[in-house]
Amino acid sequence: MKTIIVTGGAGYIGSHTIIELIENTNYRIVSIDNFSNSYESTLDRIEEITGVRIHNYNIDLCDKEAINNVFEIEKNVIGIIHFAAFKSVPESVDNPYKYFHNNFESLLNILEVSLANQVNHFIFSSSCSVYGNINKLPVNEDTTLNKAESPYAYTKQVGEEILKTYTNKFSNLNVVALRYFNPVGAHSSGLNGELPLNKPTSLVPVITQTAIGINKQMAVFGADYATRDGSCIRDYIHVTDIALAHIKALEYSISKKNTCNYAVINLGSGKGVSVFEAITAFENATGEKLKFVVHPKREGDVEAIFSDTTKSEKELNWKATKTIEEMMLSAWKWEQNLKK
Ligand code: UDP
Repeated sequence: MKTIIVTGGAGYIGSHTIIELIENTNYRIVSIDNFSNSYESTLDRIEEITGVRIHNYNIDLCDKEAINNVFEIEKNVIGIIHFAAFKSVPESVDNPYKYFHNNFESLLNILEVSLANQVNHFIFSSSCSVYGNINKLPVNEDTTLNKAESPYAYTKQVGEEILKTYTNKFSNLNVVALRYFNPVGAHSSGLNGELPLNKPTSLVPVITQTAIGINKQMAVFGADYATRDGSCIRDYIHVTDIALAHIKALEYSISKKNTCNYAVINLGSGKGVSVFEAITAFENATGEKLKFVVHPKREGDVEAIFSDTTKSEKELNWKATKTIEEMMLSAWKWEQNLKK
């Protein structure tokens, strides 16, 4: 049985992807995660949902020797899905070193060790933040990248460049860089969802934590943007839809459907939703009322972005299926389960 290594397997998107990989493919799935922003108990939740206990290597990807040791044991690896990275825009603004050091070093190490072990399929978690502030929406993959608005976004821009350089040099290497828009929501069972170790900064966990009473009220960062209601616009997409796209990307690479050994593909729904609209969607879907106050703009935020979905549909035969209300409802079910 061929093995897929998922780095960041206990993380939010990583764990949801592992669940879908187990349920929809015949690969053996192994995780590498040092729980720097996740909980070991996520592995129990994966097991509860799928009935499969995943083996996790608790190592830091900045430690190349430790990765070499994993590959000494794992001899049947066919592909890597590399999620493990720091991902908070505001934290990266406060602590660029943490982001530059971790996100670059870990990518270079896993890439080098993969190549040394003839593992030629590499799926990379990129982000729509690579586009920076864009005037022409929806944004497609041919759009020239603007200045990164945060150190986090910069690590994704450079991460893509690193991978492109490697695919130029190593023709056997196949990379699919998936530019996620805003993954939100939780597994339909309500048994797995977003659970960062640190206080969440992403909108949907902030919303659900406010509704459940962890926060008295929430902030809306900026109501004077040049958008339809003054708040920022994003393309929210259900995490299970994102997870399924990884299976498509793996198939795409392994069955050589890619026309080029370096592919960049947006993963979005194609719909822009403002912060106020997201709040209303949550209230409508759950019947809960949210208390919010308008705060100044948050440093590092882009004004509006949503995806052109043509390429993901054409190349991966994939598209988002869930509505914003479904995303909110699943996130709410998860938040309520966490309280039990
Ligand atoms: N946001 C907000 N209040 C919060 C968290 C986020 O108003 O407590 C806004 C944020 O300014 C942005 C949008 O929600 O406009 C999405 O932010 P998130 O951090 O979820 O994603 P990203 O910034 O990566 O797009």
